[in-house]
Amino acid sequence: DTIGANLDRTVAAWPDREALVDVPSGRRWTYAEFAAQVDELASALLNSGVAEGDRVGIWAVNCPEWVFTQYATARIGAIMVNINPAYRTHEVEYVLKQSGIRLLVASESHKTSDYRAMAEEARGRCPELREVVYIGDPTWDALIARATPDPVYPELSCDDPVNIQYTSGTTGFPKGATLSHHNILNNGYFVGESIAYSEQDRVCIPVPFYHCFGMVMGNLAATSHGACMVIPAASFDPAATLRAVQQERCTSLYGVPTMFIAELNLPDFASYDLTSLRTGIMAGSPCPVEVMKRVVAEMHMEQVSICYGMTETSPVSLQTRMEDDLEHRTGTVGRVLPHIEVKVVDPATGVTVPRGTSGELCTRGYSVMLGYWNEPEKTAEAIDRGRWMHTGDLAMMRDDGYVEIVGRIKDMIIRGGENIYPREIEEFLHGHPKVADVQVVGVPHERYGEEVLACVIPRDPADPLTLDELRTYCDGRLAHYKVPSRLELLETFPMTVSGKVRKIELRERYTTG
Ligand code: ATP
Ligand code: MG
Repeated sequence: DTIGANLDRTVAAWPDREALVDVPSGRRWTYAEFAAQVDELASALLNSGVAEGDRVGIWAVNCPEWVFTQYATARIGAIMVNINPAYRTHEVEYVLKQSGIRLLVASESHKTSDYRAMAEEARGRCPELREVVYIGDPTWDALIARATPDPVYPELSCDDPVNIQYTSGTTGFPKGATLSHHNILNNGYFVGESIAYSEQDRVCIPVPFYHCFGMVMGNLAATSHGACMVIPAASFDPAATLRAVQQERCTSLYGVPTMFIAELNLPDFASYDLTSLRTGIMAGSPCPVEVMKRVVAEMHMEQVSICYGMTETSPVSLQTRMEDDLEHRTGTVGRVLPHIEVKVVDPATGVTVPRGTSGELCTRGYSVMLGYWNEPEKTAEAIDRGRWMHTGDLAMMRDDGYVEIVGRIKDMIIRGGENIYPREIEEFLHGHPKVADVQVVGVPHERYGEEVLACVIPRDPADPLTLDELRTYCDGRLAHYKVPSRLELLETFPMTVSGKVRKIELRERYTTG
């Protein structure tokens, strides 16, 4: 199916159920009203000369217009390009040019970001960019005013590209993954199936729409099941998120682990009524077991699900299911989704390794992207001739088919010939009462090649962890070579907008120092 056809089906089945709620502005739409908004914008885009295959950029924080743009561009066969709201002039200019954007939809401003000033500056240097429209501004009204009733949509194929999504840029420069209707609609649908979404569900989405977590696992999973999308705030705010769950009686809550940690650590956490929650998704980076236990026990998310995926695979390939016990839901990222294949190979030889042995995870199936936009060499490096996507992640498949993510190949620390996985040490240090959050990276060391550095956000800045305490805690419980030899105390970690810690930045910061 195409995304438009799928939306038609939902609207026909549940026209009067709520589709979208924007908590900050109090605006809300039923599915019939939502579809009308989408049609109006789609018609306006068509009448503005946006044709099939044209790129429409969206550079905005979370808001209803983001979602309208997602579905309207899909309707008319345009390719929506998600632009990271953290980008500045130079980066946005790169994306505008690299993907040849014709029309850009942007937020006017948010917090310290003046999107209008940056877009106007970049505009002069991007000849293909014909029009920029700012949400909530006369330029937006002027666009909508071009809509005519009963738009005629082009005949689309589900294999047409619908979206260019840039990877998070956790390990370097982001790459634009070109995805089809078939790729992302099916992925959203199956992710929703794994957690038994229905038209009864109300999904709180504090993760950015610009990333696949928000727009696929959030929006497409919801609309393909008739569930409601709830926007708690324009950008992540832990208190606003819990307030939205309480006020809108959400049944599902999303987040990367750091978001759940921030919510659980709110001083007034206990005052929120979260009893409406039953499920949710934690994904994007390793989920500490301790955090997972608190999410289940204190946020009532007994059916919380862990997903593993990457932008290039629409994104999800592994997920825990409703019936999984806590051990599988904390110790693994679940099993392969329907119609997707996974294998674990020796990165050096490409040969599949036995279960219980770690190696590079590869995935194949409907969810693998069409390719990186305009970068055939990079595509060929990532997807081999057997159509397997090489993820760059180390994983281990258990005998029962559940997969554990060991870490990124790029993050592995090699100290004196020993391979060390930061994840294992992070898990362990999360158990220390003085640790609120922790990241472990390898930094260069004269003798050992690399040494282990622990970056800790202390629970109480007035009484922080010392290196001696850390070493005593590890003593006899972690192999000596894994015990961090350096400790840095931080207030926050450098993050991507999708909420991932940029280890690469920590590594660089403490390499020179
Ligand atoms: P870039 O490719 O630009 O460096 P990125 O890989 O972080 O950035 P994404 O596509 O957003 O960009 O993220 C995919 C990656 O996130 C995976 O390759 C994996 O390393 C990590 N990841 C996703 N889900 C999980 C999970 N449940 N547990 C551990 N790691 C995860
Ligand atoms: Mg990646």
